[in-house]
Amino acid sequence: MSEPVFVTVLERKVLGKNDALAAANRRRLGEAGVLAINLMSAPGSGKTRLLEATLDRLRDRIPLCVIEGDVQTDNDARRIARHGVPVVQLITNGQCHLEAALVGEALDRLPLRPGILVIENVGNLVCPAAFDLGESLRVVCVSVTEGDDKPEKYPAMFRKADAVMLTKMDLLPHVEFRVEAVEEQARALRPGVRTLRTSAVTGEGMEAWCDFLLDRAGPRTAPGS
Ligand code: MG
Repeated sequence: MSEPVFVTVLERKVLGKNDALAAANRRRLGEAGVLAINLMSAPGSGKTRLLEATLDRLRDRIPLCVIEGDVQTDNDARRIARHGVPVVQLITNGQCHLEAALVGEALDRLPLRPGILVIENVGNLVCPAAFDLGESLRVVCVSVTEGDDKPEKYPAMFRKADAVMLTKMDLLPHVEFRVEAVEEQARALRPGVRTLRTSAVTGEGMEAWCDFLLDRAGPRTAPGS
């Protein structure tokens, strides 16, 4: 009977340590004037594609850098690097989420200056919700090719979301996906959450998304100035 208690205590210890490291990351990012975004979703929701489209729109307006989290491969970091933005790839070797310690190591390798850091988490709607990385903004993506009950099924993730992005809106005519239902579920879990409908392919909603990021980042130094 004591075994489940032991497991719970161990998890708390791990989370406690993560929280302390996340607080250190948050302090460091805050002092450097970096707005850090924890970008989360199920695998295949189009996080990297969305990020590529975002970098192209914001690159000349504010300093940007990226941390990519994946179980294996540096495929995503290679894609991001093509957009001329500093990037570090974190490989978790099987772990389903990023942790603050790993992110802290990545921060050592990035030019931290006033601007925006996007941390693309490992594709997973469960575990990343429990691990604070030191971010100031949590964004969850749901693509229209997924089930339209994702917020209801994964409430922990959506309860902490500052913004919920519906991605791949260009595919909506080809799928059965209730956009309003997902937005309502998200708002029920996190009242006041910002919802955005986007397509990296057509550009739908991308200006609103970029304006949202620039607004949250506040006045920052322009690149080269
Ligand atoms: Mg990716």
